[in-house]
Amino acid sequence: MTVRLRPDLDDLPVYVPGKTHPGAIKLASNEVTFGPLPSVAAAIAEAAAGINRYPDNATTELTGALAKKLDVTPAEIQAGCGSVTLCQNLITATCRPGDEVLFGWRSFETYPLATRIAGATPVQVPLDAEQAYDLSAMAAAITDRTRLIFICNPNNPTGTVVGREALLAFLRAVPGDIVIAIDEAYVEYVRLGDSQNYSALELRREFPNIVVLRTFSKAYGLAGLRVGYAVADPRVITALSRVHLPFSINSVAQRAAVACLEADDELLARTDAVVTERIRAAAELRTLGYRVPESQANFVWLDLGADAVPFARASAEAGVIIRPFDGDGVRVTITERNENDAFLAFAAQWARR
Ligand code: PMP
Repeated sequence: MTVRLRPDLDDLPVYVPGKTHPGAIKLASNEVTFGPLPSVAAAIAEAAAGINRYPDNATTELTGALAKKLDVTPAEIQAGCGSVTLCQNLITATCRPGDEVLFGWRSFETYPLATRIAGATPVQVPLDAEQAYDLSAMAAAITDRTRLIFICNPNNPTGTVVGREALLAFLRAVPGDIVIAIDEAYVEYVRLGDSQNYSALELRREFPNIVVLRTFSKAYGLAGLRVGYAVADPRVITALSRVHLPFSINSVAQRAAVACLEADDELLARTDAVVTERIRAAAELRTLGYRVPESQANFVWLDLGADAVPFARASAEAGVIIRPFDGDGVRVTITERNENDAFLAFAAQWARR
């Protein structure tokens, strides 16, 4: 007799992260190149000495530090084992099988995966001609089964953003009982100019159905330790804490995240160099003839259509690992000048074929 498993998961793809090999330049996962600051490494070592004990399930120190930084109460924060877990927990907290989760597409691959794992239905609304979230088409796609909406801002993998006014119009159009998750994993890299820069955190008072998702994996450089957080109305946070897997944020990760917040200025200052490189790389790629939408994240998107996979394969052969999306395009992480130059050299060679 064979074991009985859920047949609706039979065709679910297994998530395969970008492969790498020794000596290759890895520009596939939107990480930073630098390791932990000395103060963060020291906090990790200190926390490691106590790993015979379970971690603080309430993440009291981390939640307190975040609340202070963001000027909210601890009751408005839930930490998670990476923001990917919070995406999943939000779906668990809002959806029963058959309910709908709405998001733009192409976007972060966890949204459809986690939706299907929960037995809910992903509703994917194509991006607009500029590869950005099409909020009017999304508003039109809402049904009485819609329970959760993801807005990835900036969008992974295209790097595009939705502006404050467009988001406000959308929030006003959506029924207030639908939870709207604004995924700000890359917010630290946004440079729209002082009058245009914003975070959905500012809109939470007016729209208590907003959940803002953030992570320590990108600008803060803790991808390997897995820490993210959600900021939302205390009622939503209570629901998230109910579905939270006990002890899923380990004690080393908690201490490291607090140490990162203490070194906030130094870590965030490093995003400036990436932004400068992003502008340079995007301009050079466009000069070479590539279609590259305006990115506000630490990566750029090359709209390559059917060439995406062969392009990424040839790039890997040239020693630079990037992330292909079959039939669509490639996403290339922007890091330091020498690494970006290695990719640009390959891109120039490919363009001259
Ligand atoms: N949201 C987006 C848009 C992302 O790109 C990622 C990471 N690729 C995440 C969330 C998850 O980040 P983490 O689980 O590492 O916090």
